[in-house]
Amino acid sequence: MPETTIAVEARNAVKTFGQGAVAVTALDNVSVKIKQGEFFTLLGPSGCGKTTLLRLIAGFETPTSGQILLDGDDITNLPPNKRAVNTVFQSYALFPHLTVAQNIGFGLEMQDRPRAEIKDTVARMLALVQLEPMADRKTSQLSGGQQQRVALARALAPTPKVLLLDEPLSALDLKLRKEMQIELKRLQQETGITFVFVTHDQEEALTMSDRIAVMSAGLIQQVGPPRDIYTRPANRFVASFIGETNFLAGISDGARVKLGNGAMLDVVAPRGPVGLAIRPEQVRVVAVDTAGAILATVASTVYFGTDTHVHVTLSDGTEIVARQQSPATGGVEMQKGAAVGVVLAQDALQVMGD
Ligand code: ATP
Repeated sequence: MPETTIAVEARNAVKTFGQGAVAVTALDNVSVKIKQGEFFTLLGPSGCGKTTLLRLIAGFETPTSGQILLDGDDITNLPPNKRAVNTVFQSYALFPHLTVAQNIGFGLEMQDRPRAEIKDTVARMLALVQLEPMADRKTSQLSGGQQQRVALARALAPTPKVLLLDEPLSALDLKLRKEMQIELKRLQQETGITFVFVTHDQEEALTMSDRIAVMSAGLIQQVGPPRDIYTRPANRFVASFIGETNFLAGISDGARVKLGNGAMLDVVAPRGPVGLAIRPEQVRVVAVDTAGAILATVASTVYFGTDTHVHVTLSDGTEIVARQQSPATGGVEMQKGAAVGVVLAQDALQVMGD
């Protein structure tokens, strides 16, 4: 990847808060490259360090060690207002006494840009976020979704190189949140600006991002496009944080893996004890006499409308969930205690590291 396509880079970034016994390492030697024009998401559970990384990029915090680069330039010690970076906060942080148009033009006014340019940019931004009829309203008279749009327009108006978004949708109700997800993606594509988006919502990350960095405990566990993260999780943490996963224990002879119930799987893994993972939609529950199927007993079925989750138990006590499309009518009744067969899609089995 040529350096010129990298918008933001964190190089060996460490951030420690406090000292001695109360010291917290929020970022533990994090290195990541975010490409120009991509929708890049920092995803992870509460406290994993994603906001800290965003704040280092924004300049609200300085790293304990390591560097932050923007377009290849070291900006580690530049103050926030000297960086071509803008942030949209969860709280919107709008000025309630100003109108929508004045809020959007605020950053440009601060930069003393020519009047005509400000007027033109504000008009473009109002159109971009579809708030033209509300230009002269005070922001205190807007709904949550409209306020979020103003916050986005205000942040985009000075054409930053990078827009940082810190859980910007979490204050919205589910329906509005879904609408704003589409809106955000559209804004990113239309402006071509690099977006760095923070969320702990895996579905939001999977649906919106070009690439995702999955974080835990101050470390980046995996970086990749949503499909790679989902289908080829790098380790147990990623596999269990993103979507549902079945974990199976087995012993490898180097060519095949033997499960606890004696079933043999065509999976190549280093000799010895091995952990395998498989997504519920890659497991099929079939008739008990199906050739090659692993014997199991139905523990429960849960109907979700479009699909049904069948929980089965193998003879050694291992529990597996199969997710299958609900039949339009009828279908095989899977009563608790029924003997069934289970087929694992061999190419979807992942050998798991720790
Ligand atoms: P959340 O989703 O809850 O916002 P996060 O992944 O964004 O979490 P951070 O806010 O980056 O996590 O925090 C990472 C760790 O650093 C946490 O343990 C947090 O308590 C700690 N931390 C963050 N800011 C400070 C601070 N100013 N002083 C002390 N500790 C802090």
